[in-house]
Amino acid sequence: MKGAVIYGARDVRFEERDTPRVIEPTDAVIRTAATCICGSDLWSYRGINKITAPTPFGHEYCGIVEEVGRAVSTVTPGQFVIGSFFASDNSCPHCAAGYQSACQHRELVGGAQAPLLRVPLADGTLVATPEVPPPELIPSLLALSDVMGTGWFAADAANVKPGRTALVVGDGAVGLLAVLSAKQMGAERVIAMSGHPSRQKLARDFGATDIVAERGDEGVARIKEMTNGVGADSVLECVGTADSMKQAIQAARPGGYVGYVGVPHGVTLKADELFYTHVRLHGGPAPVRRYLPMLIELVWNRKIDPGRVFDLTLPLEQVAEGYRAMDERRAIKTLLRI
Ligand SMILES: [Zn+2]
Repeated sequence: MKGAVIYGARDVRFEERDTPRVIEPTDAVIRTAATCICGSDLWSYRGINKITAPTPFGHEYCGIVEEVGRAVSTVTPGQFVIGSFFASDNSCPHCAAGYQSACQHRELVGGAQAPLLRVPLADGTLVATPEVPPPELIPSLLALSDVMGTGWFAADAANVKPGRTALVVGDGAVGLLAVLSAKQMGAERVIAMSGHPSRQKLARDFGATDIVAERGDEGVARIKEMTNGVGADSVLECVGTADSMKQAIQAARPGGYVGYVGVPHGVTLKADELFYTHVRLHGGPAPVRRYLPMLIELVWNRKIDPGRVFDLTLPLEQVAEGYRAMDERRAIKTLLRI
């Protein structure tokens, strides 16, 4: 089997790898229908997260169950399934509370940019679709594995409610799907911060009512102006840099919420400054598993089409070009055909 392996900064290769197989009785092996490249992979691709040894790459997947271990009872070979980047038992106290990405037995699912993938804790991790989907639904179902669930968590953590104002910081794939999520949750006003025309257009298609192209202090001033000096009720932070986090907190109203899902890099918060903002912060790796059944239903019934964030499709063997395109911001998100 050939799949993607990262060797170091800007060095992703498509090469021979061990064929995944069932190791633990709770494992499943799936034949991936499609996979993709995550914005968070770029932290490694750009050398910000150090790579110490060649590592199979990718963590977003969906596909047909090929084989299951003897302890697996809820999924069977032939079913089409989707799972999160964190495998979870879906039964421990943290899972029961809806935080499957903090499961006491969680395991990262890695190496998904390949035709076959081993998924641990299959019963708790994988959710089957009603039947094998038609090909046109696959991009949207694949998006549920991470990017859509993460956008949804940003909106949920930011307490988006009908009639309120939601502000989305970040115009990457997660930010764009955070716009879609805020719209689905009934926000009256959804403000997307983006300076890129093609991303602004997609944000509008997903439900943004306003676009703010300014950033930093100027961006914050613009949000204050648009909200009569008050600030946004809910801010969805989808980047993870010091600037974006600062912007998110400053643009929220006193008593407002910041849901942050961009993996923080170089962000430090001063407790005394935070104290006087009265802002509530909630974030972390999204508990995608919690949302999967509901999001599958929305996609299945054609209520949402998160697959539209894929603006580049390449065969898996061109995975290196997929990374280059996203690194250079030529593509929002790359789908890899198997
Ligand atoms: Zn658990």
